[in-house]
Amino acid sequence: MDSDLKELARLACPAAEFGLDDYEGIYPPRHIPYGAKATRLAPSPTGFIHLGNLYGALADERAAKQSNGVFILRVEDTDDKREVAGAVEMLIDSLLYFGVVFDEGEISGGGIGEYGPYRQRQRVSLYHAAARRLIENGYAYPCFCSPEDLAQTRAKQQELKQNPGYYGIWATHRDLPSNEAIELIKAGNPFVIRLKSYGDSSKYFSIEDGIRGKLTMPQNTNDIVLLKANGIPTYHFAHVVDDHFMRITHILRGEEWLSTLPVHVQLFEAFEWDHPVFCHTALMMKMDGPTKRKLSKRLDPELSLEFYKDLGYHPLAVKEYLMSLLNSGYEEWRIANPGLPLEEYPFDISNMGSTGALFDLDKLNDVSKNTLATLPAGDLSELLVSWAKRANPDSIKILESSKGYLDKIFAIGREGANPRKDYVYATQIFEFIKFFFDEYFEMEDGLAGNMPKQNALALLMGYLETYDFNDGKDQWFKKVVELGEANGYVAKPKEYKKNPDAYNGHVGDVSAVIRLALTGRKHSPDIWEVSQAMGKDRVVGRINSFIDKYLA
Ligand code: GLU
Repeated sequence: MDSDLKELARLACPAAEFGLDDYEGIYPPRHIPYGAKATRLAPSPTGFIHLGNLYGALADERAAKQSNGVFILRVEDTDDKREVAGAVEMLIDSLLYFGVVFDEGEISGGGIGEYGPYRQRQRVSLYHAAARRLIENGYAYPCFCSPEDLAQTRAKQQELKQNPGYYGIWATHRDLPSNEAIELIKAGNPFVIRLKSYGDSSKYFSIEDGIRGKLTMPQNTNDIVLLKANGIPTYHFAHVVDDHFMRITHILRGEEWLSTLPVHVQLFEAFEWDHPVFCHTALMMKMDGPTKRKLSKRLDPELSLEFYKDLGYHPLAVKEYLMSLLNSGYEEWRIANPGLPLEEYPFDISNMGSTGALFDLDKLNDVSKNTLATLPAGDLSELLVSWAKRANPDSIKILESSKGYLDKIFAIGREGANPRKDYVYATQIFEFIKFFFDEYFEMEDGLAGNMPKQNALALLMGYLETYDFNDGKDQWFKKVVELGEANGYVAKPKEYKKNPDAYNGHVGDVSAVIRLALTGRKHSPDIWEVSQAMGKDRVVGRINSFIDKYLA
């Protein structure tokens, strides 16, 4: 090898502690079963964790876990301007909230695993070793162009209607003799390391995408930056080196990386490495009126994962919904297997959609209703309490000391083949059930227009006389019917309709008064079940106080 190139590589990439071949030994191929997938989530620690991250993470996690592989968290912190303190912890917490757990990587406040460190800024030695290899083999070179030089080039390219970029005749330092480059570095001139692209813009290459199938794209011709002037790699370079040395088998990432895929493929080739299977996932879209558009940080609060935590969605509901976006067969599977955990679904990367995943909050809410209806009552109590800690601290004391009561409340209508589907997310659940608590109880509705006060009074006084907490549902209802009949309310609404002048009303009017006194509302779940949850004292107390306040 040209000894000048070796010298140049050493000078240009001073941080390499080992040779690239040593790293092959330091990071040996993984001992995972044949066909197992090693996947990674590679977020930049910008502090904004969004639905797209969770969507991707869930796909990574499913693909890894289902094949007995590994799921890794790598922090891509090469852009320190965008870094937010505590972002990694926030990300881990957020994903943990949704039950997405990493096997390896930058977790639990440090790197766990044999392929670390897992923060890119701590892997600079490796990137420099890798860049040295490319320089030595003629696939990379130092470029001394200043930002002003580059701006000038851009302006000229614009004027001549040429493609922008650093390539071909525009690549000023591409063919600079090594000895001159060495002198410039020694003299302290700032420089970046660029790829010396060997692509031909008139030629195409093909690659099999794990989601999109065969892609045919023009070769890359751009001498993109590999190491910035501060010696830190760009995403393009770092991810290639890391995905190789972390022995990643499948790169799941957003479709925004498709356009630079030719660069990445060329880099793998330059190193003579096999590349992992690239899998470009679809962007999250939503309907905005009649048009479909990308979910936007500025316009759509539902893009942020905090949105779901603040409203108190059950993590399982969000996951269930995302599974249906990830694989179109999921919904059908769920209907056929209502009792199975989602982990048993045979998730398949190749079944992921390649056109925008259409996110729809109404659909999520439907899925959530169904999911919550299948959970044990105690899980809803826990959901509510943990949401309150985060979003409704005033209620926390009451809720936390009422776990048994909450369990009874959530048990209402939960038995049987068709459980009630009242609950969507904790904020809504809290509104739905708050009448159970004296601290929050208020009259939200009033007596119906066809219920004179004196009739209501007579009915409620009569109700109190015969009310027995130990009555079963049928016995209770029988008494309500009798109470109605004694006060001119016929048992069958049909009878009343046929002959309205003969009665004050029907049994539905009677139960409406009881419901109003107990719940302050026109609508509620079954009164007998509500009363059983409330307990005798609260039932009697509510009715007495309704009489005192509104009927006396
Ligand atoms: N750091 C990149 C991002 O946050 C990761 C892309 C990838 O998964 O390779 O977009």
